[in-house]
This record gives sequence, C-alpha cells and structure tokens, in this order.
Amino acid sequence: MAKPVTIADVQVILTQPSKSRLAIVKVITSEPGLYGLGCATFTQRIFAVAAAIERHLKPFLLGRDVDRIEEIWNMSMVHGYWRNGPVLNNAISGVDQALWDIKGKRAGMPVYDLLGGKSREAAHVYVHANADSKEEVADQARAYMEQGFRYIRVQMGGYGGKGSPMVKPRNAPAGAYFDPRDYCRKMLDMIAYARAQVGGEVELLHDIHERLTPIHAVEFAKDVEPFKLFFLEDALAPEDIAWFRMIRAQCATPLAMGELFNNPHEWQLLIQERLIDFIRMHVSQMGGITPARDIATFAKLYGVRTAWHGPSDTSPVGHAANLQLDLWHPNFGIQEWYRPSELDYEIFPGLPVVEDGYLYPNEQPGLGIDINEELAAKYPCREIVEEWTQTRLPDGSPTRP
Ligand code: MG
Repeated sequence: MAKPVTIADVQVILTQPSKSRLAIVKVITSEPGLYGLGCATFTQRIFAVAAAIERHLKPFLLGRDVDRIEEIWNMSMVHGYWRNGPVLNNAISGVDQALWDIKGKRAGMPVYDLLGGKSREAAHVYVHANADSKEEVADQARAYMEQGFRYIRVQMGGYGGKGSPMVKPRNAPAGAYFDPRDYCRKMLDMIAYARAQVGGEVELLHDIHERLTPIHAVEFAKDVEPFKLFFLEDALAPEDIAWFRMIRAQCATPLAMGELFNNPHEWQLLIQERLIDFIRMHVSQMGGITPARDIATFAKLYGVRTAWHGPSDTSPVGHAANLQLDLWHPNFGIQEWYRPSELDYEIFPGLPVVEDGYLYPNEQPGLGIDINEELAAKYPCREIVEEWTQTRLPDGSPTRP
C-alpha cells in the first residue's frame, strides 16, 4: 500500500479586505506543493476561532491521513468532549473544507464530482436591494433586473427598519435601536410597493432577521402572503422554532431558516415536520462540507431545498464551497450572493463569477479557489467592537440583531 499523504501543518490566515474579518484555514500536506483551503469565518469572534485551530485542533491533526475526512470530522467533534457551538464548528469547518479541497486536487476533480456529480451547470443567486425608502429599494431592484438578476431580497433600512420615530426613556444607552411594530408596518408597505413596481415575474425575498416576537412573525408571514415572496427568511429565532407550526397552519408564505443553527437539534424537526421550505445554514457554522452534505441529503427526503447562507461574512473560500454543494445537490434551491469587490477577486484567485443571475464554477479541481497570502497580509484583521449587533428595543433593552 502506498504511504498515506498526511497533514504536515495547519495554518490560519486572518484577513480583512473590506468590512468583514475573515478566517481561512490552510492545511499543508506531506506532499510537496499540495495544500487545501477552508473557511472558518465567525467574523464576530474571529480570534477565538484562530486560537481553537492553532492551540487545540492543530496538535491533534498533525500526521493524520488527509484521505480520512469522515473520521477526522467525527473525531474532531468529539475530541473536546463538549460539542458544537460556533467557535468549534467554524474551526472544524476550516479543516474539513481544506480536506475536501485536497481530496479534489488529488483526484483531479472538483468537489461536486466527489459528491456525486453536477445536477446543474450554474447556481441561481439572489442579491440584496437595501435602501432607506421604498422608492429607492424598487429602483435598486430594477437595476439588478437589468443586470440579469431574477431573485432579489428587498430590505429597507437594513434589518431593523432604521429611522423609526420612537420615544426612548431618559438615560437610554447608545445602540442600534429599532421598533418591531414600526418595522412590520413599513416592511409590509415596502414589499407591496416593490411588488407593484417590479411586476410578478421577478422573485422577491425578505429577511426578518429574527427581530420580531413570535406572534408578530406569524402575523407578518400572513400579511405578506399576497405578495408572493420566493421566501421569508428567519421569521423566528432558533429559540422560537416551535412557532413555525403556527405560521405553517395559517399561510403558504415560503419559509427559509438556518443561518444561526449549529446543532442538529435545531434543524431535524423543522425538516421532518416540513415546517420550512429552505434550509439555509452558514456552512462553516455547522462544521463544513461533510455535515452540509448530510443535511442536504436528509432535507431532500422531505422536499426541503437548500439556500446556503452567503453574505460578506462568509469568506470567498466559503462561497466557493457553497457553490460546489449547489452544483451537486439535486434539491438545491437558491444561493445568496454578496457581489465581491475587485480586491476580493485579487486576493482569492478562482472566486466564482456571476453572469445573467447564475453563479458559475471554474471547473478546477477541489474547491477551485486559492489565496494570495502576500496581498491578504496587507489587510490584517482590525480590533473591532461590533456596533450593529448592539441592538436595542425602544425602551433600551437588548434584543437580537
Ligand atoms: Mg439572513
């Protein structure tokens, strides 16, 4: 038997070319020149992920056979005894995606071929229209349509419907305030307006970002039903998923959920009870390609489609991994797309491109993406105390961002 190719080094590359801090794992093998890349980006706690990889995973991984992705994933998950959680899952994902990249490079195949081959040539994507007035949102949506996009998420004032008039108590602390009831009224009006402006043929989406109380999420999902959304995203928080049964019982608004999930208990029942239409985890947040593959296959049995999370706080390596899953999975639904900058394309050669609303692969082996480490090093991660996640209700109390 040939000597196995083994893990010779595990490196973490932290970079921040624009707003989001990104963590890329580079697994270097015993075979000269052979390495793989993976996304481990948990942007708000990026240094904790780096420490988990460098101090805990790396010593455990050195010398292991790179071919044994399943065994390494499962042993990495139980090795710390306490499992899951965003820091550990992202750390494991960085290694897992890199091992899939290595396996593809060794086989001379893109990862979608390792998974079972292509179901499609390219992945439909949706993009974000977001402005401070409904007129500007509709204008942005029309501009996207002219660029060939057919799926557009419409938001006004970000996730919170900024700019609501509100009375705060004396000595209210600083924060990103929003008024959930004002949000409901304004968003419903905006979605009705956008639908009237863009017509019935383009697909519109909206993300509540788990900002409503459960009963108001039920009400909103019913109110928005006439406007035929492609899906309503994160209507509820992971803590409130039992309320999906009530939304389901009362309307046919398609539902998407999952970017915050990191434990199998969070998605199993939603899929089994057919309470959602799209499962949309953040692939690194659940531990990489290996669990994403399992969940996609599980969801297929229940008619639930995939819509992996794809914002700017997924790294370009993570987007490349999403696309591999999208091309393979028969029950693919849609891919969120963040429209990378020129700099992103320079730092990450091979980053997929969009044409006519479709995301195309480059047909290279593995994940088909690389990193220019010298250029990435010119954009080091900054120390940031996030402000947008310091969200408050009108009375000043903290709430979910
Ligand atoms: Mg979202």
